[in-house]
Amino acid sequence: MSIVAFDIVQFFASLNHNFLSICLKKAGLCTNIINFFNSYYTSRSTTYAWNSFLSPSFLLNIGVEQGSALSPILSAIYMVLIIKTFKKRIKSLNKEIPSDILSFVDNGLLISQEKSYDLSSVFLLCSYNIMSNILSVGLVMEHGKSKVMHFMRSQHPPNLSLDLTSVGGPILHPKPIWRYLGFFFDQKLTLQHHVHYYATKCLSTLNAIKLLGNSSCGILLSQKCLLYRTCVLPITLYGFQLWYFKSAPKVKNLTELKKMQRRAALWIIGAFCMSPMEGMEAIAGLIPIELHLRKLNRCHYLQYTSIPSSHAINSLLEIQYAKNHLPYRFSTSNLMDKQKSKLISPVKDINEQLSEITESFDPLHPFFSPGYRVVNHFSSRIMFHSPNSSSDKDLHEHIQKLNQVFHHSQSTLNDTAVITDGGVKKLGVATAVAHIWKDNSIVKRTQVQTMNVTYVEAELMAISIGLTHAIECSDSHNITVITDLLVAVRKILESQVNPFQKLVIPIANKIKTFLCKDERNNIHFWYCPSKAEWPKHNLVNRQVKEAEDNPTLPSKNSFLFSKKKECNSLLNEWQELFATSKGKGQSFLEFEDEKQKVIKPTYAKGGSWLPYIGFTNSLCTQFTCMTLGHAPIGEYCQRFFPNLPIGCPCGRATVQTREHIAMQCDWYSPSSRPRNIVINSFVHFLSDNPAAFSFDNG
Ligand SMILES: [Zn+2]
Repeated sequence: MSIVAFDIVQFFASLNHNFLSICLKKAGLCTNIINFFNSYYTSRSTTYAWNSFLSPSFLLNIGVEQGSALSPILSAIYMVLIIKTFKKRIKSLNKEIPSDILSFVDNGLLISQEKSYDLSSVFLLCSYNIMSNILSVGLVMEHGKSKVMHFMRSQHPPNLSLDLTSVGGPILHPKPIWRYLGFFFDQKLTLQHHVHYYATKCLSTLNAIKLLGNSSCGILLSQKCLLYRTCVLPITLYGFQLWYFKSAPKVKNLTELKKMQRRAALWIIGAFCMSPMEGMEAIAGLIPIELHLRKLNRCHYLQYTSIPSSHAINSLLEIQYAKNHLPYRFSTSNLMDKQKSKLISPVKDINEQLSEITESFDPLHPFFSPGYRVVNHFSSRIMFHSPNSSSDKDLHEHIQKLNQVFHHSQSTLNDTAVITDGGVKKLGVATAVAHIWKDNSIVKRTQVQTMNVTYVEAELMAISIGLTHAIECSDSHNITVITDLLVAVRKILESQVNPFQKLVIPIANKIKTFLCKDERNNIHFWYCPSKAEWPKHNLVNRQVKEAEDNPTLPSKNSFLFSKKKECNSLLNEWQELFATSKGKGQSFLEFEDEKQKVIKPTYAKGGSWLPYIGFTNSLCTQFTCMTLGHAPIGEYCQRFFPNLPIGCPCGRATVQTREHIAMQCDWYSPSSRPRNIVINSFVHFLSDNPAAFSFDNG
C-alpha cells in the first residue's frame, strides 16, 4: 500500500463563501439556513491592532474564523464536496483508478492499495494531479509539505521516491518513519518507533516528577499511583490500538512499555532498583501492562456498539453490526470464510467482541435532544427523597418519614405506592421484583428474570416494571416509588446517552405520558436501603432472594455486563498468574488482611497494599524491601554477596532472616513484634522501628 499526504495552505482562511453556500445547498440544508450563512458571511471586515496602532478596516470576503465553533462543521461540509468531485473525476477517467482519499480537515491522504510500486505510483500521480486541480479553485495545495510512504510487510521493503514534477509537484523522497497526526508509522507498521517515542516521553515525565515524591513534603503514595495512571499512562498508550490486537507482533513494544512501567513502580514505592518487577507492580497497585492493554482494548471494542449509525467504521464491520451501512469493499463481510480465518485485523476482533452484546445504542435518539428530556418539562413534579447524610440517625429519621408518607398514600384514594428491588445471583441470573400497594395491601406482585445484566440494570428493571404497572393499571395522581438505588432512577431522568438507554427510553416515555395526562400527577422517589430493614421493603427483598433461578436460555450480555466481565476476567487472570509466578520475587512475603485472607493484587484505589502502607514514603520503602526480600540484611547477602557477613549483629542468629528481625531480634522494640501474618501488625512493627530493613541500617 502506498500513500501520499497533502496539506492545504491556510485552509480555514481560504474558504470561498460562494462555494460554501453551494456546499450547504448540496448538503440539503433549507434555504433559510443558507440565507443566514450568506448574510453572516457578507460585508465582513477586519482590523488589526498592535499596541496603540490600529489598522484601517479591510474587507473580508473569504475564509471562516479559526477558533469559531462553526468553522470545523462548515469546513467539513466544504471538504465533502471536494472529495465528491474528486471521486467523480476519478470515475470519469477512461481507465479505472483504484485509489481512495481520506481527509482530516486540511490534511488529506491519497491511498493506493496496489501490490506493485509502479502501478501505485501511477495511480497516486494521477490522483494527486486531479486533487491539486480541484483545489486550485480558491485553495492551494502546499507541495512542500506533501509526503509519500510505502507500506509493505516484506523483510526489506524498498522505499522508492515518487516524482510529481510532471504535475507541478516536487520529487517526494520517503523517510523511514512518517509522522502523521501524532503517530509514527514505519514501513512494516510495527509501530515500534511510535511506542519508543511515547515510552521515552513518559520516562522523562517520570524523571521530572520525581521531586513530587519527595520523602519529607511529597505527595501521598496513592496519589503517585493515581498520577501515573491518569497523567502518564494515557500518553504512553496513545494510539496503542494501531499495534495491539490479536496475533499482531507486539513483543518488542511490550518490552519497551514494561521498562517504562518498572520505572513508574520504582518511583511510586521507592523500592530498591534491583527488586523483582511483578512484586513491585503488585505493591504499587499497577496491573501488568499487557493485561492493562488487553482490558483497554476489549472495552474499546465494546464501544463500537455506541457509535452513531452514520459512522464510517460501520462500513468495515460484519453486516449485522454495520447499522444498515453498505459494506466497504474491504469490509469483513465481503471476505470468504477462509480469508477471514487468515485475517489479522482489529476489525475482526471488534466483530468477535460485538457478537457477545445485545445492546444497540441510538446516540442521536430525539429523546436525548435538549428540550425533550423529561426533567426539562416536569422537574417540579418528580421528587427525590433521601437522607441528609449517611449517618444512622439521619437514616432513622428518613425511614420514619417514609413510614408516614407510605401510610398516607395507602389511606388516600388517588395514591399508589410501588416498592421495588433487584438483585443478581452468582450464576448471572438477575431478578427484578415490584410490589404495587393500594389500600394497605399488595394489589400486584410483578417479577421478571433475565440473564447477564449488572445490578444497576436489575434495579432499573424493577423500577421500570413497577412504574409501568402503577401508571397503566390505576388512575392514581400520586405514585410513590420506594427503591434502594436512587442512582438507577436518576439514569431514567438524566436522559443522556448512557449504557442504560434501551431500558430507559420506554419507561421515560411512560413517565412523560403520565405527567402530561393530568397536571395533578406527581411521582415521588424514596430511598430505602436494605440495611434499614423496613418491613415492606423486606418483603420485596426476600422475594428477590428466594426467587427460583429460572433463567431463560443463555442470552447475550448487556453492554455493562460485558465490560464488567472483561475487567473481572483480567483481574482474575492477574491474580492467578501472580499466585504462581516467580517474577514477583522468590522470597515474596504473603500477608493476610484483617479478615485473614491472603492479600491478592488489585488495581482499583491504589491496589491491595498501598492503603495499608502508603502513609509515608519511608514506611512504604521499608515494607517493600521486606516483602520482596531485597533489603540489606544477612539473608539477602547470603544470596547475592556471599563474601559479606550474614549473621545478625545481635548475635542470636547465624543468618539474619526477615523472620528473625521481625519476630525475635533484641535490637528492635519487642512491644510491637508481629505475632501473625496480618499486614497491619507488620506495618505497626515497621513504623515503630524505622531502622528495620532500611538502607541506613546497612
Ligand atoms: Zn538479631
